[in-house]
Amino acid sequence: MTIRILPAEVAAKIAAGEVVERPASVVKELIENAIDAGATEIRIEVRQGGRRLVRVADNGCGIPAAEVELAFARHSTSKLTGVDDLARIVTLGFRGEALASIAAVSHLTVLTRVADEPVGSHLRLEGGSLVSREGRGCPVGTVVTVENLFYNVPARLKFLRSEATERRHIDRLITRYAMAYPTLRFSVTHNGRLTFQSTGSGQLYDVLIKVYGLDVAKQMLPIHGPPASGADGETTPPGTPGQEPLVSGYVSAPAMNRANRDHITFFINGRWVRDRMLAYAVEQAYHTLLPVGRHPLAVLRVDLDPAEVDVNVHPTKSEVKFLHRDRVFAAVQKAVRRTLVDQSPIPEMESRPGQWTAAGWERRQTLTAVGRERLPTQLALDAQRTGEFPPLMPAPQAGDKLPPLRVLGQVARTYIIAEGPAGLYLIDQHAAHERILYEQFMAQQEQVTSQTLLEPMTLELTPAQAAIMEEQLPVLTRLGFTIEPFGGNTYLVRAVPTVLVGADLRQALIGIVDELAESRMPPLAREREKRVIASVCKQAAIKAGQVLSNEELRELIRQLEATAMPRTCPHGRPTMIHLSQAQLEREFGRR
Ligand code: ADP
Ligand code: MG
Repeated sequence: MTIRILPAEVAAKIAAGEVVERPASVVKELIENAIDAGATEIRIEVRQGGRRLVRVADNGCGIPAAEVELAFARHSTSKLTGVDDLARIVTLGFRGEALASIAAVSHLTVLTRVADEPVGSHLRLEGGSLVSREGRGCPVGTVVTVENLFYNVPARLKFLRSEATERRHIDRLITRYAMAYPTLRFSVTHNGRLTFQSTGSGQLYDVLIKVYGLDVAKQMLPIHGPPASGADGETTPPGTPGQEPLVSGYVSAPAMNRANRDHITFFINGRWVRDRMLAYAVEQAYHTLLPVGRHPLAVLRVDLDPAEVDVNVHPTKSEVKFLHRDRVFAAVQKAVRRTLVDQSPIPEMESRPGQWTAAGWERRQTLTAVGRERLPTQLALDAQRTGEFPPLMPAPQAGDKLPPLRVLGQVARTYIIAEGPAGLYLIDQHAAHERILYEQFMAQQEQVTSQTLLEPMTLELTPAQAAIMEEQLPVLTRLGFTIEPFGGNTYLVRAVPTVLVGADLRQALIGIVDELAESRMPPLAREREKRVIASVCKQAAIKAGQVLSNEELRELIRQLEATAMPRTCPHGRPTMIHLSQAQLEREFGRR
């Protein structure tokens, strides 16, 4: 084959692919442009998960009539003049690629006006080519409308996920920017319905309430400022050369946690970035405070000298490189740990709260620094994530039937001790009940029994929860729920499957939605349904910490014996630990 230069049109589509992966990428670039333009109000309109339409309207500075066309040329930007500027980037955009890339793969319309021009400009581009241009009256600011994304890139179109999934990506992105910029007013509509709005009050806490709901927000702790640094405790603005990275934001109290790391959010100089090392720094600060396999929520801003961050790493600008990585790592870990220590005494430190001094901190940092050097290997990260440490005992064989057991009692209101022909059993009452309910549920698949509530219950959800609810509504309906949209993010619950009768319904439903939000949904409908059933059973099951009578304990074990797979809960965790006769004898040195 001979070497040829690619036609401009093909090259443009390839380049566009790097920036525009999915509708959420369009939303990201347009929001960043609005922020760079000094907007205080950003309105986002989405149709069909962004496939059909994404519109971002801002009240920023606008684009002068003479420059609008140029804005759509590749590598055209007003934010960078020379290569020196690259070393010190203070705007979100700088590559001059976004508008060109988005225009290349969509039907794009822009309407924009600057304050000192009487009329605005209205341009329409199709596949990157200008098809019309006219003057048009409009307020100062910019409205970019992107329709039929990827209409000319069938390969990309094919890879787009369901409307609900694309919508979830968009919502996550917008709520992140709303948290990073509490002074800006964001509003979002999906298919004409307002689903999220931030007040622009300037208080991050107000945005947290909008994003996570009041109950979660109440359990978030504000990051405390650094300890007063002696005599010269004057405050230098963040971002000054030589200044320590400044960490601010909120982290969750240890009692509140999540099943994955998705809720650790970072903004570096106002830019949302993904950074596994920094997420790990947060988790380190929670060391011993969280159950294995659980992760904190955090919304953290790190401000530092722009010269110490390289944002030009990736076309989507979602990864950065730090000049002094360990300094940023330590600053984050320290700030989070200090907040946690101040808030509650941490036993492993053998020190009363309030006694922590900066010097004490330094000492502790040097102590932990030794361990830190080696720990963050992939292996350690994975082990920490999945909680997979070598099991003490051989894992139970799933599928083994249980022999008849004799209940001896309950320990710590959580475990049942029982004896069988093959030795001693410790059974987790919650996990066991989950298994029982799950199999009962699966057995009645054809005709699920459901109970109508005497009085319908209104359920107010956060935007993220509402999106999951909308997505899972058909499955929930099949499983015996009757739930109707009730305007905004509110739902009306009219009936629930009988297993949930007696449970705290509000808490159970929110628990189900949250769990579904956290787990990756399998592609097969049948598997997805099983996942939802497992989640319902988890909410319906007896909780740890609940005292059970001997009668109840015996009944639970009897039902567990009757299940097909008594040794694991529907989520795959063990329901029991078995100490065989032989093991007991070995442990006591009888053999
Ligand atoms: P970049 O943001 O990297 O400069 P873009 O392709 O996103 O590149 O935008 C090109 C230029 O168009 C920007 O540098 C800016 O001057 C102008 N621009 C884009 N969006 C807006 C907006 N919402 N308001 C004002 N100017 C804008
Ligand atoms: Mg841009």
